[in-house]
Amino acid sequence: MPNHIINVGDVELISLNDNLPVRSPFVAFPHTTIEQWNEYPELMADHENGKHRWGSLAVRSSGNLIIVDTGMQGEGCYLLDDMKEKGIDRDEVDIVVFTHVHPDHVGWNFTDGKINFPNARFLVPQKDWDYWTQPDVINTVEYVVPQVLPLQELGVMDLVDGEYSITPELTTYPTPGHTPGHSSIRVESKGEHAFILGDVAHSPIQAHYTDWNPEFDIIPEAARATRHAVLDMLEAEGTLVSAGHFPDPGFGRFVRGEERRFWQGL
Ligand SMILES: [Zn+2]
Repeated sequence: MPNHIINVGDVELISLNDNLPVRSPFVAFPHTTIEQWNEYPELMADHENGKHRWGSLAVRSSGNLIIVDTGMQGEGCYLLDDMKEKGIDRDEVDIVVFTHVHPDHVGWNFTDGKINFPNARFLVPQKDWDYWTQPDVINTVEYVVPQVLPLQELGVMDLVDGEYSITPELTTYPTPGHTPGHSSIRVESKGEHAFILGDVAHSPIQAHYTDWNPEFDIIPEAARATRHAVLDMLEAEGTLVSAGHFPDPGFGRFVRGEERRFWQGL
């Protein structure tokens, strides 16, 4: 089995990439110090060497093909090509679900005004919709008008909140803070579990520095509280995690070492 595919009971998770950007970790974490990163030279190198993902995920569950987040569609982005290469036919996608409404998660909904997943329903977190469509917010970013509003106009969008059952095996799990409606997804099948993290964390270094807020956390205090609670839970359960921005393919577990929690990638 290629390392971008993992099975959880009857559910199949297929890691997808839109880009592997090369950039300093200080872009996401400008308030951190080089001394802190020097404790983790290999994690710093992952940021600088293009190992981190702008990632999406395809999920096969209960006869449905689901895409979690649709990437960025910026310069050099290639999600649709990556899907094709990994055997995912976008015409067969039944459901697109967003962990949150940010440019690197809703970016490939439309290309030149044409929908890229013509047979799908799109599940948008209610609280993110409420936040981003406020009159004084909507025009502060470039992506909501072209990539999100047309979903409503076409009648293919459902707003979801709380613990929403996507399929009998996939349930949304509210993880607010990064955005007001940020939502992770729990996977459960045949006694096996996994957790689709979204942007609860942006780098494995947050396994240890769980307080660190990346620049993009909209409600920093709530994001911190959520991150502590979720990472503690995932560590205690030993749950398999799919992390959208962690090094390719983004599968692993949060594990307790002698002194510190760390990310054990698969
Ligand atoms: Zn993101």
